[in-house]
Amino acid sequence: MTARHLISPPPEMRVSPRGLLAVIGLGALAVAWWPVVVVFRVPAPVEATVLLAHLCGMLAGYAVVVLLGLMSRTPALERGVGADVLARWHARGGRIVIGLILVHAAAVVLAWAQSRQESTLLALWHVLRLPWLMAATIGTVSLLAVGAASARAARRRLSYESWHTLHLLTYAGVALSFVHQLAGPDLTGHRWLQICWALLYTYVFALVLLHRVLTPLRQATRHRLRVAAVVPEGPGVVSIAVDGRHLSELRAEPGQFFRWRFLTPDTWRSAHPFSLSAPPTDNRLRLTVKALGQGSAHLQDIPVGTWIGAEGPYGAMTAARRTRRNVLLIAGGVGITPMRALFETLPVRPGQDLTLLYRARGPEDLVFSHELEQIAHWRGARLLYLVGADHDCLSAPALLRVVPDLAHRDVYLCAAPRMSDAVRAPLRDAGLPAEYLHEERFAF
Ligand SMILES: Cc1cc2nc3c(=O)[nH]c(=O)nc-3n(C[C@H](O)[C@H](O)[C@H](O)COP(=O)(O)OP(=O)(O)OC[C@H]3O[C@@H](n4cnc5c(N)ncnc54)[C@H](O)[C@@H]3O)c2cc1C
Repeated sequence: MTARHLISPPPEMRVSPRGLLAVIGLGALAVAWWPVVVVFRVPAPVEATVLLAHLCGMLAGYAVVVLLGLMSRTPALERGVGADVLARWHARGGRIVIGLILVHAAAVVLAWAQSRQESTLLALWHVLRLPWLMAATIGTVSLLAVGAASARAARRRLSYESWHTLHLLTYAGVALSFVHQLAGPDLTGHRWLQICWALLYTYVFALVLLHRVLTPLRQATRHRLRVAAVVPEGPGVVSIAVDGRHLSELRAEPGQFFRWRFLTPDTWRSAHPFSLSAPPTDNRLRLTVKALGQGSAHLQDIPVGTWIGAEGPYGAMTAARRTRRNVLLIAGGVGITPMRALFETLPVRPGQDLTLLYRARGPEDLVFSHELEQIAHWRGARLLYLVGADHDCLSAPALLRVVPDLAHRDVYLCAAPRMSDAVRAPLRDAGLPAEYLHEERFAF
């Protein structure tokens, strides 16, 4: 890998989830090792609070970098690990960071109080007066505010946009606590370590800037995306054909999604994730939108000619994940969109089987029936509709009745979170090993 590839890897590069976890784990070990060295170097008995303060402080600083990296939208991570998995790791990691920061702060104050025989309150006052501590405390408070807003109960009450805007506070929080890290007892006096730490932060901020700001801007001017047609597919569902230039440079794959920002006065503020519902070509992309809330309802009659900013492609639920001969696609509701594109394009050789199970509440909720039947016909693939409110058709015995070799297939699953949750256990009970289940959840 060249230096250029580190900051901007080739679009086809993929980092596997295991590979990424291994790198994060090794990084954590390396970071945890240093404060232990620092603490044991001092020729005095080591207090547990002191060791805890050092360890948690360094690990929190490291975990923050990891969290930013996970959300940097680096293509190798998005394609290899998948946006939904990255978002879940980020959410879990956020809780760990907050825990580490709180333990670090408490341990520092306690250690100070013990070593100087002061009350905890007086120790807190002295600690806060240390250089850059006030800035770090404000940074910590902003991280706590973001954490509180992300807690399930609060998240449900906030609109996605408000929650997302609040999340931008994280960057301010990280910047405010950065100098405290450099000036802290583990790094101060170690010029090379300070440089490496600063480079780590610079690198990850560069990734965020590149992939979340500069690349979308470059793509907007290069590809000049506009709405070409809006086609009703069913009640509250439309397909939006998008025209653009040089789209093959994006290397978008069936199964992936973009974050679409439609530039009208009503819709420009939010970028919504929608999957490609047809294989991409050099001058056309297609997405299909179900009206589930205000943002998606506005798109039902978006004017032809509207300019679009699109970020992506993202998502790991592509043909690259396939390792077995036969494939089962399971789509629930509007989760049919990426499955429609995969159903048309997943390679099927003679003797191999491709089956699509399409679950919908009622016949009126089925979209693309005509297209799906045509694809099934010319590809020799199987198409099964599971229509009705009853969830029994998704039990392990029911699934095995229609796909007896289920345990020996790659299974692609895309549905709303509730249906995905309802299918995961039956798939496991039917004998499918977890590594052969490839999922895109329509929720972050
Ligand atoms: C990877 C992915 C692919 C998707 N593909 C499709 C698709 O092909 N077709 C389709 O109809 N729907 C798809 N969705 C769902 C679609 O993104 C949401 O229905 C839409 O964003 C809802 O926005 P809203 O303002 O209409 O509804 P709201 O009522 O504001 O939100 C409904 C739900 O969508 C979530 N949401 C809202 N805005 C965003 C956002 N900007 N980013 C992430 N989540 C958001 C909210 O948290 C909430 O859970 C996909 C979702 C994801 C995560």
